[in-house]
Amino acid sequence: MEKHLTKISLVRLRFLLIAVVLIEVPFLLYVERVRLIEQAHDLVFISYILHSVLTFVCLALLVTLFMLRDHDIDKAPFLKRVPLHAVFLILIIASVIALFDQVTHGHVTIFTIYMLSFGLLIYVKPYHHLYLYGVPFAIFVIGVVAFQEDSDILRTHIINGVIIFIAVLFASSVFYKYAAKDFIYNEMLTEKNKELEVLSTIDPLTGLPNRRHFDKQVIYEASINRRYKHIASLLMVDIDHFKALNDSYGHDAGDFILKELAQVFRKSVRESDTVCRWGGEEFMFLLSHTEVDGAKVLAERLRKLVSATAFAYHGTKLSITISIGIAELSNQKDGFEASYKDADVALYEAKNAGRNCVKIYSPKEKA
Ligand code: GH3
Ligand code: MG
Ligand code: MG
Repeated sequence: MEKHLTKISLVRLRFLLIAVVLIEVPFLLYVERVRLIEQAHDLVFISYILHSVLTFVCLALLVTLFMLRDHDIDKAPFLKRVPLHAVFLILIIASVIALFDQVTHGHVTIFTIYMLSFGLLIYVKPYHHLYLYGVPFAIFVIGVVAFQEDSDILRTHIINGVIIFIAVLFASSVFYKYAAKDFIYNEMLTEKNKELEVLSTIDPLTGLPNRRHFDKQVIYEASINRRYKHIASLLMVDIDHFKALNDSYGHDAGDFILKELAQVFRKSVRESDTVCRWGGEEFMFLLSHTEVDGAKVLAERLRKLVSATAFAYHGTKLSITISIGIAELSNQKDGFEASYKDADVALYEAKNAGRNCVKIYSPKEKA
């Protein structure tokens, strides 16, 4: 969270520095320079030098900040303190300038503006702001007490100074608190969204990807295949007489079989292949770089493996068989849904051929 606040503070600091330069440069050229010519006073000269130093410091900081990238901050944690040190330096210089200003022309407007704008716009941890704003304020107060001979002006500066200091502390704490809350909330929201995204693509029973994820994968695969002239195949798998198994052993036994089968399927394919729970007791495979004849080899292996396996459920050995339809994935844009239908047609063929069987889709079957 602090990292985000630092990043925002850095962005704002850039704008503040530009603003300071935009105030200071005309001030130096058109106000201070004229005063220097007219009054030729030591204090005016020192004030001119201090304003030049402030402008130079801001320009140097601006160049540094523009060269700083986000990943620099991630790599070097000490950079997190850059906004704090920069503001501290600027306010110290501004407080010293204010001491001369209040003697030479009686006002401390620029110091006040800088204190307030940095206090409002830069996120500073509570207590850090005590020294960040407290030290420049203390320099100002001690300086005013030491140099101001007019007791009325002295009193006015002290009272105004205390009001501004308290206002800056208050504003800084409130803004930090609310910004921190916003960030915690945003972080939580981002995390929840990530969780939801995972949940929306996973079948909760088997842990396999669901149809939504499968569609995305297929569309991506088809685009790669179009580009590189590859071929992929689809396997549509359906458990035979699954309703009868549910009826005989209960729905929980059915769920158990679905979970076990998902494990078997997951272990039987290459890492580059995708198996999803298509719905109910149906599964769909996307086999990358695989023509239908190759897909049939895998399908037969799966069919034999499943029919030879006894799934032990609470001491009872359950046996099932599967039927599989195979189709080549169309590489045409949006052709994937037609390929799903082709696999479904082939599966229907397998069911009609007596189940526990594999069929490859052939276009003439459409008729
Ligand atoms: P066929 O050989 O023709 O495929 O027969 P079948 O009984 O497998 O097919 P049918 O479409 O008649 O029935 C599918 C059954 O799958 C019905 C339903 O109760 C069961 N089923 C679907 N989803 C789930 C599930 O999540 N858990 C359990 N236990 N059963 C499910
Ligand atoms: Mg079915
Ligand atoms: Mg079935």
